[in-house]
Amino acid sequence: MEPSAREFIEALIQIPELSVTGYQIQSQAVLIFVEVQVRVGQCGQCGAITREIHQYIDRKVRHLPVVGKPCYLIFQEYQWICRKFRF
Ligand SMILES: [Zn+2]
Repeated sequence: MEPSAREFIEALIQIPELSVTGYQIQSQAVLIFVEVQVRVGQCGQCGAITREIHQYIDRKVRHLPVVGKPCYLIFQEYQWICRKFRF
């Protein structure tokens, strides 16, 4: 994707932790593919701050309409786990 289109979409969605990797304009919807930028998170078991990713979950979240079409952000959400609960 050319940088200008990416910058435009990033300005549109206004979520600093997300970086846009692509988009698809369909007849009924606009899909925006994004990557989550965060590198640390909270352990799902104990709440500790961790850098270990436990698993990815595919998410599709509705965002504000673009050019009158419903707009969805497509991304993988991270689930975090600390070393204590890793295995
Ligand atoms: Zn933990």
